Amino acid sequence: MTDKIIILGSGAAPGVPTVSDSWGKCNPHNPKNRRGRAGVYLKIDDTQLIIDTSADIRNQLIDNSIHHVDGVLYTHAHADHIMGIDDLRAFTYNTHKILNIYAAKSHLTEIRKRFGYVFTDVSSSEITARPQLVSNIIEYEKAFNIGDIEVMPLEFVGHSVPTTGYCLNKGRVVLIPDYKIIPPQTLGYLQKINVNVLIMPLTTIEPTLYHAGIEIDFDYIRQIRPKAVYFTHLGPDCDYDAVMRKCLPFMQPAYDGLTIEL
Ligand SMILES: [Zn+2]
Repeated sequence: MTDKIIILGSGAAPGVPTVSDSWGKCNPHNPKNRRGRAGVYLKIDDTQLIIDTSADIRNQLIDNSIHHVDGVLYTHAHADHIMGIDDLRAFTYNTHKILNIYAAKSHLTEIRKRFGYVFTDVSSSEITARPQLVSNIIEYEKAFNIGDIEVMPLEFVGHSVPTTGYCLNKGRVVLIPDYKIIPPQTLGYLQKINVNVLIMPLTTIEPTLYHAGIEIDFDYIRQIRPKAVYFTHLGPDCDYDAVMRKCLPFMQPAYDGLTIEL
């Protein structure tokens, strides 16, 4: 099996359409505009990871035939990124093994506050119907390994909380989380490596209080010089074709189920 990324969900917090049946500026006749909440799956060599677990993750995992993961990385603890954590039960119930999740300390504290029951301190022989998760605190710019994947956590700011991005296998894949500013330390790191695939949020076209818009994204892309860019976490403001028209040839908006071969 080839190494690949699957964009599980390409939407921002409200998804598209929203529950109030608003498509915003999105063309309702383009299926690529129907978006679940954001999440990413990656397979590199024999290791499979998920980044974030939105409330839509159960259907996303079923639709993409993902039946196993070796770890879960979290970007932050906002509801649209964590509310599907309970569905990780499938990965521990069937295997009778614990599953490691990774997040910054403040994010793990939030997750524990809301979902204390998913964490286990018991041995794997006492597997129950609850998820059996073990939390691991990540530190920025301290790399660690999950199987065949080297994970470098990077700090981003300007969202309503600091957020965690991930650089995998020295730039083979980089995921930027909700952000408005890339701190100089993180930008310096990304400029020093060769970024192959960059996944970054485009929540709104214009910048808002807590999100960068398309011009800020483009400015950072010029500085990071990745080979390919996929915009995700797309809000109802971001019509697929309208965003595509603004993209340079190595960029494109993502859509639910998009598979990127590495
Ligand atoms: Zn957020």
